[in-house]
Amino acid sequence: MNIVLFGLPGAGKGTQSDFLSKEYNLYKLSTGDLLREQTKSKNELGLKIKSRIDKGLLVSDDIIDTLVIKIISNKLYFDRLIFDGYPRTLTQAKKLDNLFRKFNQKINFVFSLKTDENIIIKRILGRLTCTKCGMIFNKFFNKPNAENHKCESIYLKKREDDNETVLRERFKTYNELTAPILDYYKTQNLFVEIDGMLEIEQIHDNLRKIIHS
Ligand SMILES: [Zn+2]
Repeated sequence: MNIVLFGLPGAGKGTQSDFLSKEYNLYKLSTGDLLREQTKSKNELGLKIKSRIDKGLLVSDDIIDTLVIKIISNKLYFDRLIFDGYPRTLTQAKKLDNLFRKFNQKINFVFSLKTDENIIIKRILGRLTCTKCGMIFNKFFNKPNAENHKCESIYLKKREDDNETVLRERFKTYNELTAPILDYYKTQNLFVEIDGMLEIEQIHDNLRKIIHS
């Protein structure tokens, strides 16, 4: 079984793909994670990727496609992939179909998490991580206080690439590029839209039901 998962950045796609990956023994191909890994190395490619991500721009298709081909052609991952953050363009979606055909596989499900952009923005911008103990809070939905957190407030940090302008830009890019991809999958009857504003467990249950239906 191969699955493709769509949803705005910050919509909880990562969490759901982790669940599905565990439950069905799928290999999670997250280009976001792969790219974030690359930005940690301070070489030319890493810096190039980081500068584009910081501006809310997409990383070139060539770089990503190379990473994807490596995975699909690997027998270890045969018919057990879940894509999180790929394909990002219609061209990539078509390339992906060709690749699967070439390696005798297909996509079984395409899920899209439907979410409210303004709430997602609060979830992301409000996120505070404690660099001392690792706990995660949210200044809108789950404020750190003397009861739930013992470290000093200087340890609470926001993630570097999170600000509203960047997020709005990412959402805009996402919506523009994703609409035609989703249409493409709709014509193949692979597309299922899921309510992404429900509780995490509930979303997971809904996904599971569709997979078993
Ligand atoms: Zn702490």
